[in-house]
Amino acid sequence: MKPELDDDKCMRCGACVGSCPVNAIFLKESTLDIKDDCTECGMCVKICPIHALDMGGDQNGRR
Ligand code: SF4
Ligand code: SF4
Repeated sequence: MKPELDDDKCMRCGACVGSCPVNAIFLKESTLDIKDDCTECGMCVKICPIHALDMGGDQNGRR
């Protein structure tokens, strides 16, 4: 599972973009685009200062 973005929380700071080792995250006008290149390393989830990214499946094994 790629990380899921909470659009309402995200302030488009770009921190996650810089954190991604495979450059799978792209900042767009109103959202983030996470490409299938994502290796699910979880780095972006950790780096986000406001926890707008969430690894699906991280909690309670949901998807
Ligand atoms: S989980 Fe890792 S590979 Fe996937 S978008 Fe986040 S930083 Fe990039
Ligand atoms: S680090 Fe968090 S707040 Fe910043 S652009 Fe990424 S998801 Fe949005």
